[in-house]
Amino acid sequence: MANDKKLVWQENICAGCGTCERSCPSEPRAIVITEGKVVIDYNLCDACGICIKDCPVKALSFEVLA
Ligand code: SF4
Ligand code: SF4
Repeated sequence: MANDKKLVWQENICAGCGTCERSCPSEPRAIVITEGKVVIDYNLCDACGICIKDCPVKALSFEVLA
């Protein structure tokens, strides 16, 4: 992933719809729903931001790293 920003998931906002998993272009997917929770594999995520755009409730965002 890009080293200047990190994808973060807010469990209290997430609706569990699975859109982020379906949207992720990474193969294998960098974001998957496991037992109702979003799990991000930072070794696979390139911080493209597609899942952030597609999440209907804005539960995903980038944390800008110093
Ligand atoms: S930022 Fe891009 S690569 Fe990372 S989990 Fe979201 S859609 Fe996948
Ligand atoms: S798209 Fe958003 S609401 Fe849907 S599972 Fe992913 S993080 Fe949760």
